[in-house]
Amino acid sequence: MPRKLFVTTALPYANAAFHIGHMMEYIQADIWVRLQRMCGHEVHFVCADDAHGAPIMIAAEKAGKTPQAFVAELSAGRKPYLDGFHIAFDNWLTTDAPENRGLVNSIYFALKGHGLIETRTIEQFFDPDKGMFLPDRFIKGECPNCGAKDQYGDNCEVCGAVYAPTELKSPYSALSGATPVLRHSEHFFFRLSDPRCVEFLEAWTQDGRLQPEVANKVREWFKRDEHGKVSLGDWDISRDPPYFGFEIPDAPGKYFYVWLDAPIGYLASLKNWLGKIGTRAEGEAVDDVFERYLADPELEQVHFIGKDIVTFHTLFWPAMLKFSGRKVPDRVYVHGHLTVNNEKMSKSRGTGINPLRYLQIGMNAEWLRYYIAAKLNARVEDLDFSAEDFMARVNSDLVGKYINIASRAAGFLSRRFGGRLSADIGVEGRVLLDGLRAHSDTVRELFDGREYGKALREVMLLADRVNEYVDAHKPWELAKQQGMEAALHDACTVCIEAFRVLTVYLKPVLPALAAQVEGFLGIEPLKWADAKRAIHHGGAHRIAEYRHLMQRVDARQLEALFEPPPEAAPAAAGPAAPGGEALAATIGIDEFAKVDLRIAKIVKAEAVEGSTKLLRLTLDIGEAQPRNVFSGIASAYKPEDLAGRLTVMVANLAPRKMKFGVSEGMVLAASHADEKAHPGLYVLEPWPGATPGLRVR
Ligand SMILES: [Zn+2]
Repeated sequence: MPRKLFVTTALPYANAAFHIGHMMEYIQADIWVRLQRMCGHEVHFVCADDAHGAPIMIAAEKAGKTPQAFVAELSAGRKPYLDGFHIAFDNWLTTDAPENRGLVNSIYFALKGHGLIETRTIEQFFDPDKGMFLPDRFIKGECPNCGAKDQYGDNCEVCGAVYAPTELKSPYSALSGATPVLRHSEHFFFRLSDPRCVEFLEAWTQDGRLQPEVANKVREWFKRDEHGKVSLGDWDISRDPPYFGFEIPDAPGKYFYVWLDAPIGYLASLKNWLGKIGTRAEGEAVDDVFERYLADPELEQVHFIGKDIVTFHTLFWPAMLKFSGRKVPDRVYVHGHLTVNNEKMSKSRGTGINPLRYLQIGMNAEWLRYYIAAKLNARVEDLDFSAEDFMARVNSDLVGKYINIASRAAGFLSRRFGGRLSADIGVEGRVLLDGLRAHSDTVRELFDGREYGKALREVMLLADRVNEYVDAHKPWELAKQQGMEAALHDACTVCIEAFRVLTVYLKPVLPALAAQVEGFLGIEPLKWADAKRAIHHGGAHRIAEYRHLMQRVDARQLEALFEPPPEAAPAAAGPAAPGGEALAATIGIDEFAKVDLRIAKIVKAEAVEGSTKLLRLTLDIGEAQPRNVFSGIASAYKPEDLAGRLTVMVANLAPRKMKFGVSEGMVLAASHADEKAHPGLYVLEPWPGATPGLRVR
């Protein structure tokens, strides 16, 4: 029986471009969707930009744009990421769309009709200069716990304390710097603490549909105190103007909080999509098609999300749906976060991977899809992108084990047999192929259960078996022997057929590669069931000439990936600018004094394996321990030319964790702003007589 699936990822907030964490979630969901489609199931896979809220309103204002124009521009920039990484959403909408407004209003009125909306007067910080209530993130002050300055209104980044913005000492508005004042305002609340909601949510979250660790975490909301009261509180769903969002229809001047309308955007994007694809009977309204689709008891509604938004998706969202008389989610698949080289992503420190840069420097999108899949499982675990591990898995598994099978056999078939496959492949070949085919259900179930890592390990074990077969039959030797034509033909045919079966198993992860393979083998797009069917019929099938399907990862690409993005050329730099760039802004002597420059002796200089740019320098500045510094001067200096010489280093630069280790400072060198047009790199060296440790001032 074909399944009917409505699948979404979380809606990205439309105030910034995608980062690598977004791509991980999209890749996870896309693999799952592609598997279902290969199995003949019907899937609608949609997403949208989460467009509303104060941060977008403020960012748009800063950019001198309307929030609508700001979001539209950002939204238009999504395509290269999605296409580039083969993320096949059916539809992309914005939560500011009319479909969403209609659904938000109808859900709101339904909740109100059930007596689940109430208004209360609350006290909140108000910015008298900007004339607006301040969201928590726009109030700063001293942490009430540790006294750290410039902390946000909701938690302290120094000591980790969580508090209400009203508890901050010396609060100020991050927008205007003004001291905020407390003002009263009427807010709308969704009464989640209502016994009907509690009863429904407790059952819904604990009935086995959620991952065990997620169910355990949300169970805490249902703990009773001595009065039998649960800790699940009511939810504030309104905001005061100015606010970019939908106005509450029966309360002009009040707006729905962005988190109320964001998940409804899933339904809006689905509705918009159903309106586009023309499944309507004559005269039928889109509304009816949409409601009929959702009313189907066979329909499974599946959300892929990150662990940071569990509460919204396992409490607020199902309750909104349930008490507006709608279908509730069947599955909420939660994943952990992605770290890069074991560091949490941070825009300011720039340790993340920029997905577009990844593509621009010519890295293959399917390497990343494969690598992420190989590390994903069904649990809420963080996963780490490690450059070495990435290279090893792609090069030795994907290329070394899988791609190699085709490249070892295809040439002989083209050159010796006109690309024709052999009609009879012998007992040994049949046993091998039957063995591969027998894993079709296991691999499918692992993918379906989001155990991608296990699925790929299974596939690589099968690839090992094929490579053992190749090593045992040695087509390259058969090709040299007299009278071994048939054996060569059979062995190569077995390899190609095995390669096709493995391609079926890898297709959810590697859709573009699978399309290339389908072209090369001259076959229809592979479905899951094709793993169990044989390609060749009486030796009539011909394959095309083999062209290399996938390159190996080059260490230089990874190096380029982790290089800080090139700085934009200074605007003032005209042709006359010295050294190709205008002088930096004037600074005072005390600002210069903050930079501690010291004479350093280069005790040792070594090449860095895996890097063509860096040298590892051991520097002595008269401290107990020498410093380890990575310097991008390998293009200009040989290690042996540097050892024993003196130079100048920045000695108080914060240590920086790099791919190859920690760098504890920086060596000074001169170069032209446009290094390509004006090559040359010159390390500074003091006049004779200077000794290690002397300060440069
Ligand atoms: Zn603190």
